[in-house]
Amino acid sequence: MPTLSSRTAGFTDSVIRRMTRISNQFGAVNLSQGFPDFAPPQPILDRLAEVTREDFHQYSITWGAQNFREALADKYEHFTGRAIDPNGEIVVTCGSTEAMMAAMLSVTNPGDKVIVFSPFYENYGADTILSGAEPIYVPLVPPAFTFDADVLEAAFRQHPKALILCNPSNPCGKVFTRAELEIIADLAKKYDTFVITDEVYEHILYQPHKHTYIATLPGMWERTIQCSSLSKTYSITGWRLGYVIAAPEVIDTVKKVHDFLTVGAAAPLQEAAVTGLRFGDDYYAALQAEYTEKRTLFLEGLDRIGIAHTVPEGAYYILLDISEFGYESDLTFCEHLAERVGVGAVPGSSFFREPENRYIRFHFAKKNETLNEALNRLADIRKKF
Ligand code: GLN
Repeated sequence: MPTLSSRTAGFTDSVIRRMTRISNQFGAVNLSQGFPDFAPPQPILDRLAEVTREDFHQYSITWGAQNFREALADKYEHFTGRAIDPNGEIVVTCGSTEAMMAAMLSVTNPGDKVIVFSPFYENYGADTILSGAEPIYVPLVPPAFTFDADVLEAAFRQHPKALILCNPSNPCGKVFTRAELEIIADLAKKYDTFVITDEVYEHILYQPHKHTYIATLPGMWERTIQCSSLSKTYSITGWRLGYVIAAPEVIDTVKKVHDFLTVGAAAPLQEAAVTGLRFGDDYYAALQAEYTEKRTLFLEGLDRIGIAHTVPEGAYYILLDISEFGYESDLTFCEHLAERVGVGAVPGSSFFREPENRYIRFHFAKKNETLNEALNRLADIRKKF
């Protein structure tokens, strides 16, 4: 057999998605891959039912249906205060996964360097490798997951083409403060670097934390490539609707990359999702209240069991400290957890550049009854190891 590409040899399949398969195999409550088990908002589903009988069954415009881009531009202006051009500053993609890949392919040349904070969402590693770029990892140091500005500047001194910013952050739940974002922005301007954002958790925040869009800081619009999606905000991860928002010069290139990668996101789903993009502020307030309740329920349960964990400021992930179990491999621990306790988690090592085996990640985007079932199963965890 001829050899396969060396480009793909440098990474494995996604451990997050592998853990979903392992959870299913053992009938575990799956708190690994982050997606809800509750229904999306009814008005979106009602509109989807109507759309099936309307004329949305062929390709939409490759960079996104007009209606969708206009609704997104209005929403974006509402939340950031900046008016954007739905025709020249948006590309609709198949999830933010494609958005990030398209952004990386649009700005990097093979051999370029890209700053990635560690811990990081595992796709960024693969995105970088597929683009032929080289990651420079900058640690977010537990327990507060802060970065050292000097270490960050040392990374910038290597003249990276871009920095990837996941805010609110998966997996550590960090919400970057305005002051932290200003440090990043100042360095990006000083060293003439793009910032590629992953802001899919922009609406999942816990008081008193607020999301600041780095693109809104002075001088940052031109160099920020914002990626986000509807997956988490409207509980429709399977719809694969994401987008890139950036300056027209960048978007022209992202449009080309996206066109040849996937042609376009699903037309009927874009049309139905417009309903969500047009929701009022009450929707986002209710979403935050719902996730705040889930966070409280789950964290209090973990506290009763007595396992040390992070307290997320945003997003819906928790890192648990499993050092007491004395495992060399957190992957083996997660496999045993799924099999013996019946709860699915992601090994923390798949998020860290540093050799780290003391964490596992749970998410809590689940019905309260699912979270309670997971907590019941976890109650006698120590007897099962
Ligand atoms: N972001 C989700 C997680 O970290 C998964 C997303 C995906 O699998 N595409 O679990």
